[in-house]
Amino acid sequence: MMKERFLLFMVGGVVLGFVTGALFPTFSKETSFVGELFLNALKMVVLPLITVSIANAIFKMETLERFRQIGVRALLYYTLTTALAVVTGIGVVLLFKPGASVSFSGSEFHREVTFSFKELILSLIPSNIFKAFVDFDVLPVIVSTILFSLAFLSVDWNRKTVLHQLISELDVALLKLTGWVISLVPVGVCSLIATKVAEMGGAPALKTLFLSLGVYVLTVLTGLFIHGFITLPLLYFLFTRKNPYSLINRVKEALLTAFATASSSATFPVTLSRSIAAGIKREVAEFTLPLGATINMDGTALYEAVAAIFLAQSYGIELSLSQYVAVFLTATLAAIGAAGIPEAGLVTMVLVLQSIGVPTEGIGIILAVDWFLDRCRTAINVLGDIIAAAVISRQLEERDGRVSP
Ligand code: ASP
Repeated sequence: MMKERFLLFMVGGVVLGFVTGALFPTFSKETSFVGELFLNALKMVVLPLITVSIANAIFKMETLERFRQIGVRALLYYTLTTALAVVTGIGVVLLFKPGASVSFSGSEFHREVTFSFKELILSLIPSNIFKAFVDFDVLPVIVSTILFSLAFLSVDWNRKTVLHQLISELDVALLKLTGWVISLVPVGVCSLIATKVAEMGGAPALKTLFLSLGVYVLTVLTGLFIHGFITLPLLYFLFTRKNPYSLINRVKEALLTAFATASSSATFPVTLSRSIAAGIKREVAEFTLPLGATINMDGTALYEAVAAIFLAQSYGIELSLSQYVAVFLTATLAAIGAAGIPEAGLVTMVLVLQSIGVPTEGIGIILAVDWFLDRCRTAINVLGDIIAAAVISRQLEERDGRVSP
């Protein structure tokens, strides 16, 4: 009964957010602090929780072999689903041909975007971990936490250490705190959506969404729907023989928060808390979900492919087979390279566009609708992370001979 009422509040929050933002933009902007408070509360928990949960998971693994088992599985599974997402993206954009109905010469849109893979690789190992924390650079924080925890695990302590105890107590407390933040999801989501719709110009912004770039928006949404609600559930079923939609239902707060914040990283506390509550093994959830929120982005990968080919179509550029292969490879890299923050995918898209000779200022064309598509792809990114964790968790349970009901 309580759960049904909470679901009603959540759905009501989304609808009310769109309506208020469209009809009362001034009011929505004036009350934007409600959503900001919610976002701040999430962000406040993110970095401590990422550090503590990764350390806790690695300490619990007890051996480096266990770490390798989970890590390798996660990377293989992420590669598989990201590749499937890009293929789906290429499939839908070729089928719908959204670029055929719009044509751009290119000169009227400008936005400076640069992205370098070299810098991303270099940033993996921070020279100053405190700076990485202060700058909210999630990937270097994850990498250094993994390294420190592995070093800790490799030392042969002959008793349970104080640090281990402290980390597991902090972990419990941070998840408790996250639980409090989750109870604010309906209000926070409502305010964040209302503010964004109002900032984009109220009701006319919603019209733009469906009129000027309607076929493009529809193409992205169809691709995301197929990947998130058909392909991933099918994979989950194949690997676990369990009902995927019941899992999706149990983690809906995470999907909604992802939609409202457009950030996989900010959503992480909700993702972790709901995944553990849904029965995913704690050591798997705590280790793979922070990693997934940063490098496993199925929605973004799919989106990169659709957007790049859409722009090529609207510039009248015919792509060859080898260029489609280039889109496949670079969209995958661009998704891995995108940070889990709003519109990060737009920045890494430079890589995809350059690989097929589409002018990068083309990104300006799709900016008008990106605020909405970003939210949708972020929800699918988070869903991809959760399903990956659930699959790995199930496989380990079977290996360990302990299958949960
Ligand atoms: N906003 C997305 C995320 O946080 C990344 C993107 O822009 O595609 O997952």
